[in-house]
Amino acid sequence: MFTQSPWSLEDLFPDQDSPEMKAAFDDLDVKVVEFEALRPGLSASISVEDFLNVIRQLEAISRLSRLIGEFASLSYSANTQDQTIQAFQSDVENRLALIANRTLFFSLWWKSLDEAEVERLMAASGDYCYWLEEMRHFKPYTLTEPEEKVINIKDVTGAIATVNLYTTFTNRYIFQLEVDGEVKHLTRGELMVYARHYDPALRAAAYQELYRVYGQDGAILGQMYQTLARDWHNENLDMRHFSNPLAVRNLANDIPDDVVDTLLGVCQDNTSVFQRFFRLKARWLQMERLSRYDIYAPVVKSEKMYSFNEAAEMVFDAFQRFEPRVAELARRVLERDHLDSEVRRGKESGAFCASTVPDLTPWVLVNYQGKPDDVATLAHELGHAVHAQLAGEHSLFTFHSALPLAETASTFGEMVLIDYLLARETDASVRQTLLFRQVDDTYGTVMRQAQFAFFERQAHDMIQQAATVDEISNAYLENLRKQFGDAVDVSDEFRWEWVSIPHFYFTPFYVYAYTFGQLLVLSLYQQYKVEGEAFKPRYLSLLAAGGSKPPEKILSDAGINMHNASFWQGGFDVIRGLIEQLEAIPVMK
Ligand SMILES: [Zn+2]
Repeated sequence: MFTQSPWSLEDLFPDQDSPEMKAAFDDLDVKVVEFEALRPGLSASISVEDFLNVIRQLEAISRLSRLIGEFASLSYSANTQDQTIQAFQSDVENRLALIANRTLFFSLWWKSLDEAEVERLMAASGDYCYWLEEMRHFKPYTLTEPEEKVINIKDVTGAIATVNLYTTFTNRYIFQLEVDGEVKHLTRGELMVYARHYDPALRAAAYQELYRVYGQDGAILGQMYQTLARDWHNENLDMRHFSNPLAVRNLANDIPDDVVDTLLGVCQDNTSVFQRFFRLKARWLQMERLSRYDIYAPVVKSEKMYSFNEAAEMVFDAFQRFEPRVAELARRVLERDHLDSEVRRGKESGAFCASTVPDLTPWVLVNYQGKPDDVATLAHELGHAVHAQLAGEHSLFTFHSALPLAETASTFGEMVLIDYLLARETDASVRQTLLFRQVDDTYGTVMRQAQFAFFERQAHDMIQQAATVDEISNAYLENLRKQFGDAVDVSDEFRWEWVSIPHFYFTPFYVYAYTFGQLLVLSLYQQYKVEGEAFKPRYLSLLAAGGSKPPEKILSDAGINMHNASFWQGGFDVIRGLIEQLEAIPVMK
């Protein structure tokens, strides 16, 4: 029987004040001193053995840093309003930044070498090879050691502190909503359940309350964003000489600029696909035209709820039928007590999976409330955990997949779950709900994120032109209205949506990775349906590659050419197929 409880961080440390934590910091210090002693030995003629020894020592330091850093950040996510935890976390960030600075000389030296020297060492580096290669990509954008150190130190109290302020600030919001005559006080996660309520008035009220609260602080939250966007520009364009703000992320993702342009271009060309879906949805909801409040509305009244235990069992069973190994790895997260699924005040909203080091089971945070949606989120986050564990044979530096491939196992896991539910559900209304929800979610990960990416580019440009927060909000609203065309009415308060999207703050230009990942998975899933068993080894080895090869190579090994517009169009063809399938169903009243 699976029950809900906060996660255990015992596999990291018993406590932030424990002797183990103190010992880890002491050990880290010893290791860094030893590592610094290796510095004089770094030369173009270094032997392969010495070179590998340096890397292994750096890996040991990174490992300890991650264990400490993850403990602090997971403690914080579980309780963002606890002052002791918050103070500990910022202390840890500060100390780890100082340590990162003391080891920085290695990457600077590595980037300074000539190609010929690099080739000799790389040939002998085994699993570290791609990590070393990736570091070299940044050679043209790397500054001197003192400059790099100043950036690292100033980031702790600059960009990172701003992001932390944003998190603390927004996670204390309490939203009020009147439901059946009673005023409820809700977290964001609890409030947004009503965005999918069958009562249109409640849906509207939920969104209005969301943006009333965010809008009240809109000027401050917008100012935080302006600060971060300026910081991004000052560092990456002015100092490092990247050609544009997006190119920074593309290089970190190791995705060529032209691929991202092609991907987003295909999305632009397919705006009408979802407009068509929203018109269909309006007919089901018996509305002349959808409002933005209604885009995630259920088309039929179904109040199906799942207990947490049922949800966990369904996810494991669905995974088991797909591939027993996948189920086993997902189950391990619960067995290790690494899942925090309950809803609590002060806990971070949303959901994530943190894969810390290759040999530890990842930690997963969700806010489980029993809706079919929450079951899908559980499958999604456990999919991430499966991905990390399948890649657990790689080094600390190569087990994390690049962002655009990071959503593969998660999204695929969700699709496996939906198919499992569809195959078992006999109630027509639940089936319609599931099918519509699949397109709803696809909208949320494909088109919505692509539109976010367009907006983000525009916002960064506007901030360089000294745009005000209101001007950015107006641009955001205009983008939304263009995207929805005459298919959906967008009311004014949606101008504040952008200040409520954490990704814009945490990881600029992250969002296209979702679009990339979802379209990729639609096409992979199509292959799975056609090929069945034969598909699985290719899929599992794609996941097991983790971040040990360039994304382009991982995909071409799986038979995919990401430069090809027709590949991305194939994803939209699957979506259009789903919509046509829905159009063929007579509207149920
Ligand atoms: Zn995800």
